[in-house]
Amino acid sequence: MLGRLARWLRLLGFDTLYYRDISDAHFFRIAKQQNRFILTRDTHFLRFKNFSDFLLIKLNDTFDQLVELIKILGLKEFGVSRCVRCNGVLLELHEKKEIRSLVPGHVYLHSSKFLRCKDCNWIYWEGSHMKRFRERVCEALHCQNGGWSDSKV
Ligand SMILES: [Zn+2]
Repeated sequence: MLGRLARWLRLLGFDTLYYRDISDAHFFRIAKQQNRFILTRDTHFLRFKNFSDFLLIKLNDTFDQLVELIKILGLKEFGVSRCVRCNGVLLELHEKKEIRSLVPGHVYLHSSKFLRCKDCNWIYWEGSHMKRFRERVCEALHCQNGGWSDSKV
């Protein structure tokens, strides 16, 4: 139910795991082992009173969810995006020609910065939609100085 929110958090650089079908036991084990904060829309989590590090997401709109979450958790550091598909770390490619056959021709010609997911090898490039997305988030949060590091990807 929060798949889009998870992808957007990854775009903003947050280490975000996402599960749709997972047993409670497995889910809580991962959360505890990796010291993760849980986001859910599932009210049955309220029964787990001994587990306090979670937030029940009540808003329906993903953008509103994102802004609320950033405010509540006081998240201030927005870094290099993570892979929206698998949450992998993105590494900058220094040799553009490495990915010549992997991206559309116009992208290859007009983009200068490419990143590759360390885990699934998916290729990312700097796009205006990403820039607009970050600007929109920043505007909603009244960020100072853009709110994040130098990377625009
Ligand atoms: Zn990946």
